[in-house]
Amino acid sequence: MKVPFLDLPLQYRSIQAEVEPAVCEVLRSGRYVLGPEVAAFETEFAAYVGTKFAIAVNTGTSALQLAILAAGLKPGDEVITVPHTFTATVAAILYTNAKPVFVDIDSETFTMDPSQIEAAITPKTKAIVPVHLYGQSADMDPILEIAKRRGLTVIEDAAQAHGASYKGRNCGSMGKLGCFSFYPGKNLGACGEGGAVTTDDAEAARLVRMLRDWGCEKKYHHELHGFNYRMDGIQGAILRIKLRRLHAWTEARRRHAATYDRLLGEAGLPIPRVPPHNRHVYHIYPYRTPNRDRVIQQLKVREIESGIHYPIPVHLQPAYAMLGYQAGQFPVSERIANEELSLPMFPELTDEQTRGVCEAVIEIEKNGSK
Ligand SMILES: *Cc1c(COP(=O)(O)O)cnc(C)c1O
Repeated sequence: MKVPFLDLPLQYRSIQAEVEPAVCEVLRSGRYVLGPEVAAFETEFAAYVGTKFAIAVNTGTSALQLAILAAGLKPGDEVITVPHTFTATVAAILYTNAKPVFVDIDSETFTMDPSQIEAAITPKTKAIVPVHLYGQSADMDPILEIAKRRGLTVIEDAAQAHGASYKGRNCGSMGKLGCFSFYPGKNLGACGEGGAVTTDDAEAARLVRMLRDWGCEKKYHHELHGFNYRMDGIQGAILRIKLRRLHAWTEARRRHAATYDRLLGEAGLPIPRVPPHNRHVYHIYPYRTPNRDRVIQQLKVREIESGIHYPIPVHLQPAYAMLGYQAGQFPVSERIANEELSLPMFPELTDEQTRGVCEAVIEIEKNGSK
């Protein structure tokens, strides 16, 4: 049975009849950059996340960069985050000339271990960037408590967590600022690049809005050293249509994850731990195995695709050697990087496919242990 890791054209066919006229309408309107479709998407996405404001930008990376700038960070200020994330989290901090400082992750949830934060705080620390990795919220209450007590700003990397929540609060609404990506493969994906910053803070929203558009509030009056990080009108129109389907798509992901949990769990294989207060939206379904290479290889023989998120923690990437970290400093992140295997996950998977993936994984693991 053929099971792709992700099938974007399949999803596109389900919305094609609505998307194509909407895109043609933008083409005819001439409103190619920002414009009414992007403005309407911002209103609708803010309502979805439950914040007063959402500011649409060109990528999730830009969302992070502008959120950090809007939080008032200066060059040399330190930002605490995790090494087990997509590299963009760390790159965005460096784009602002702030300094990323790592703490390890929790071995069960793969998100920031709050018990390690205090020891990483220095007089230069200004912000904490927890990552809601794989679609599951970081343990926000202790993070928010430490931040409040130590006067730090919390900026959520919610690039993988559209619709996820923690104790009933939505990811992207708990920190001062939330950052989302609409890269095509994300749970809410544009037909191209996109991102957004969410916040309840009117001044932060004003700063992000100015920074994405050359630092202007009034055209050609440049008050801030800004950027060209605007969202395309076409992406706004497409994202509005997809946002209306996001809840149903998320429910489908959660159903597939429940099948994986049940069948793998019944076979005695490890399943991801999700604390009961977390609503996980399964951007990724992480399966852990010490036999990763063999499992990937044998899934491939059965035409089942899988992924690794991510094979090298950021502190061990050559590009970030200048941060001065060594192997062994973040043992949990390093172990997960060696053991994590992402099973196929997208809303349009069939029950037959998810069952087939489980049967294949169980068979491969059983044979290997003989
Ligand atoms: C995708 C992603 C980003 C960056 O978003 P882009 O839209 O690709 O720039 C940042 N952080 C995490 C955790 C991501 O998964």
